[in-house]
Amino acid sequence: MSRKTIVLPKGRRARIGSPWIFSNEIRMDEAAKSIAPGSVVNVRGDDGRAFGTGYFNPKSLIAVRLLSSECDVPVDRDFFGTRIVRALALRDALYDKPFYRLCHAEGDDVPGLVIDRFDDVLTVQIGTAGMEKQLDTILAALDATLKPKTVILRNDAPSRALEGLEIYVRTAKGEGARIAVVENGARYIADLAVGQKTGWYYDQRDNRAFIASLAKGKSVLDAYSYSGGFGVLAAKAGATEVICLDSSAPALALAEESAKANGVKITPVKADVFEELERLTGAQETFDIVVTDPPPFVKSKKDLEPGAKAYRKLAKLGAQVTAPRGLLKIASCSHNIPPERFAAECAAGIARTGRTARLIRQAGAGTDHPVHPLLPESAYLKALVYALD
Ligand code: SAH
Repeated sequence: MSRKTIVLPKGRRARIGSPWIFSNEIRMDEAAKSIAPGSVVNVRGDDGRAFGTGYFNPKSLIAVRLLSSECDVPVDRDFFGTRIVRALALRDALYDKPFYRLCHAEGDDVPGLVIDRFDDVLTVQIGTAGMEKQLDTILAALDATLKPKTVILRNDAPSRALEGLEIYVRTAKGEGARIAVVENGARYIADLAVGQKTGWYYDQRDNRAFIASLAKGKSVLDAYSYSGGFGVLAAKAGATEVICLDSSAPALALAEESAKANGVKITPVKADVFEELERLTGAQETFDIVVTDPPPFVKSKKDLEPGAKAYRKLAKLGAQVTAPRGLLKIASCSHNIPPERFAAECAAGIARTGRTARLIRQAGAGTDHPVHPLLPESAYLKALVYALD
């Protein structure tokens, strides 16, 4: 079957190498509309110039996601095998243990595909119709390269609905979703089938290590702790007291198990973070280190104003429970709030408490989350650490 062609009359973004081509940039004629969602296509200018091989979804705002900058590239087992081996080589150079994000979608030139590696167990998360069509090929490429024992498909992100995809979790190979993650020299217990997202948030690895490096002899509040990524490591590094605060009981149970696995103790508190921070303020309780790592407050562009306000409020409440000369870390995983705006809201929130502060660290996700240089959206994580006076 011959490959269909999508024509770009203007194609501004593709011309400068962006992997996303929007529906208003292509010639959406009858021929284009008749192409089945998820089909692999060639993208050419109306002058015939090659823009690359991608997959097409006429129903999505991002009509084409490019897999290669050349046309007629076969999208087969070897294609994914080559991408996986390249991604693997980068991680092997970066980490001494096989625990990392192996493929980070556009950042690894596999738009719509995220793979997390936990030694010989993998979680695969597919976000687009185009990648869903390639699922069997991707699994075959993984078998040909990494030979994983277990592969769990975490295809339950709500955003899949926008691509007309079914929401499901399924074990594609092997068994056993409860595993130990080895990170920063600690062992964490994770459940890859029922945990949030792909079961573990590798993106905060370096930020966890930074906080832990300052935690010895300190009291720590890990707000939005999930399974204790920050708190357990801080306890292992010698924190005197660690509270893990989250609204999810299963996440806190994992945090307690992880603490035990490292021979340390954390105190789980199941509560809403805003309410608990208000309560702690009223009780005049403070902590030497306060970590806040909330879920995205700006889920889409239209949420920007209320979301920005929520970050400001979180910064204010966080500063209120930070001890004199303490540290406050605030993170945002919303790519819909620009870094400058996020930093401005955090600064305003802290200032409202009358405290002065110094911004001592501005970080993003770890190096296993490469950013596509022409897709700023792929740099979603912002983590700011303030030293409060
Ligand atoms: N810091 C974690 C990741 C946090 S993910 C780590 O290092 O792995 C965000 C967490 O916020 C989730 O565990 C979720 O259960 C929790 N959460 C979401 N809304 C909340 C709320 N209103 N109050 C408390 N926790 C909340």
